[in-house]
Amino acid sequence: MAKLGLRTDMDLVLHLPMRYEDETQVITIRDACLRGGQSSQVEGIVTKSEIGFKPRRQLLVHIADETGDLQLRFMNFYGSQVKQLAEGTRVRARGELKHGFFGAEMVHPNYKVINEGAPLPTSLTPVYPAGEGLSQTMLRRAINDAMKRVDWRDTLPAPLVARMQLTDFEPAVKLLHYPPQEVDEHALLDRSHPAWTRMKFDELLAQQLSLKRAQRARRSKGSPPLSVVGDLSRAFQRALPFHLTGAQQRVLDEIRADICQPYPMQRLLQGDVGAGKTVVAALAAAQAIDSGYQAALMAPTEILADQHFRKIAAWMEPLGVKVAWLTGSLKKKDKAAATAMVESGEARLVIGTHAIIQDTVQFANLGMVIVDEQHRFGVGQRLTLRNKGNEDAIPHQLMMSATPIPRTLAMTYYADLEVSVIDELPPGRSPIVTRAIDQNRRDEVIERVHAAALEGRQVYWVCPLIEESEALQLQTATDTHALLAEALPDLSVGLVHGRLKPAEKQAIMDAFTANEMQVLVATTVIEVGVDVPNASLMVIEHAERFGLSQLHQLRGRVGRGSAASVCLLLYQSPLGGVAKQRLMTMRETTDGFEIARRDLEIRGPGEFLGSRQSGQAMLRFADLEADAWLVDQARDVASALLRDARHTETVEAHLERWLGGREEFLKV
Ligand code: ADP
Ligand code: MG
Repeated sequence: MAKLGLRTDMDLVLHLPMRYEDETQVITIRDACLRGGQSSQVEGIVTKSEIGFKPRRQLLVHIADETGDLQLRFMNFYGSQVKQLAEGTRVRARGELKHGFFGAEMVHPNYKVINEGAPLPTSLTPVYPAGEGLSQTMLRRAINDAMKRVDWRDTLPAPLVARMQLTDFEPAVKLLHYPPQEVDEHALLDRSHPAWTRMKFDELLAQQLSLKRAQRARRSKGSPPLSVVGDLSRAFQRALPFHLTGAQQRVLDEIRADICQPYPMQRLLQGDVGAGKTVVAALAAAQAIDSGYQAALMAPTEILADQHFRKIAAWMEPLGVKVAWLTGSLKKKDKAAATAMVESGEARLVIGTHAIIQDTVQFANLGMVIVDEQHRFGVGQRLTLRNKGNEDAIPHQLMMSATPIPRTLAMTYYADLEVSVIDELPPGRSPIVTRAIDQNRRDEVIERVHAAALEGRQVYWVCPLIEESEALQLQTATDTHALLAEALPDLSVGLVHGRLKPAEKQAIMDAFTANEMQVLVATTVIEVGVDVPNASLMVIEHAERFGLSQLHQLRGRVGRGSAASVCLLLYQSPLGGVAKQRLMTMRETTDGFEIARRDLEIRGPGEFLGSRQSGQAMLRFADLEADAWLVDQARDVASALLRDARHTETVEAHLERWLGGREEFLKV
């Protein structure tokens, strides 16, 4: 139950059915046969029960009523079921009736052993979102018990309910749990029934209240206004070897406007891989430094953090800015030195991994935190970094992500978050050509690698993902490396994986960046952020094992320079349906937003949001797009309720009912 977020009685009461089953009527077996195809419920006496073995072990139970007979077929069954369904037993079975080779049958019907004359349920049977080890029966009982205990008072004032023509809370909830026979079933199922409307409205209202309160709370907190666009910012922008794209300039302006405010920015910077988020973040950091504050940049992996460090330090140090480097793998002495620089304020910018958020690290005056690939961090980690500011001076927060979250989805999960999007790639990028190739044509692929290297280009060769075993994955990477080194004796072939010591990893990345190494065999450690513009060929082995966003991230490692780039997706046939769909998507588009959209279609929303579980989504019943008309109403009502202090209790009660303890969490 905890996994489903069910902690209080009210949580249970608001755990509403996802669909219903009709068990209110029994029809004769003959009528069921005439109906065919649809789901129906019949009742009969077991006339024969046997275990068959063709084509596989299965339990076959024949039942009959006065009009005909029917076979119930169970492919998976327990010994206890065999006993339970002995000859002479009366059962009620519900399922889809099919006309098979041996007459009418139901495969895996729902059934109940009953006594003659057992009453039928009078309402549709709810089916709840459940989980492993939690049956519908247990849930129904728990919900039923909770219904007897909760406080049913309507959280909304009666005049409001009347004016909005909403159903009252208690009857709405009860109807959804125990829909009466005469209910408009269709409206119940497509959630257009007034009882659902009430639930959606309440939920949206809670979201809007929470959103507005979070915004207000944020605006009431102090942050240092970082309003100085000074020498550093100007010199930095002048020194860049390129002009910002229009989209980069626009989002930079948005960020700049935010951080001038005396309350904390909370902004998500989205942009496809290669869109140029780093330089925007660095320019924002420069403004923080110009304004007399420190900035910190945290990245999820050492390779990525290191790359940011090199790039940004190379930009900033010539301009006299001290940049500290902080990761878990530093020697004790070096870490102490870095920490001291951060604490004294000598280091104006700190770049590193989550080592930055350790207790031992104190900032002199942190004004801005930047979190790259934010979905890889937990909410707690981001909070800790935000709390590293001085008292009553919360640092401005900029989160970056290359995994585009559709705006409506973001709003479903985050209470209070501004979003900026870089929707344009820097000029001069040549499009990446993507091909899917059967694994057994590996030799041809190795030829292409050779040819690319001879033209002075560089190559990534990504090893298959083996989720169940890191050791096995490492083994595969080592084998692939050996194989390629042997097949390409005139080239330098390197290997990088997660088990290497940071210094070793570094040495390899350095050699690759300097083009001393032409081919880099890698595990998915290179998935995020790695930036070597001269690399123009990417080979991904067993591409069918990767998810879409991962493939997109990996492919984004090439196509960063002006050379025409190619991504080869090696697959093992035969391909399953989902894998085929993914590879096709990869061939058809390089647009991260389009890929995210299709990914959402294939996978559902859960995984988009990192450590935030889909079960904790803010909206369970309403849909921001389909129920847009209700969103507007909820927004107006929320403003009205918050404007008038007499409604404080209403607001509190409503938020408590709908969000319970989750509100804090949703603000982060
Ligand atoms: P991402 O958004 O994936 O983090 P990066 O910030 O790593 O992208 O930028 C990708 C590459 O593009 C880097 O080599 C960066 O220096 C370069 N770049 C960024 N902005 C521009 C621009 N406006 N014009 C040309 N190159 C740019
Ligand atoms: Mg990046």
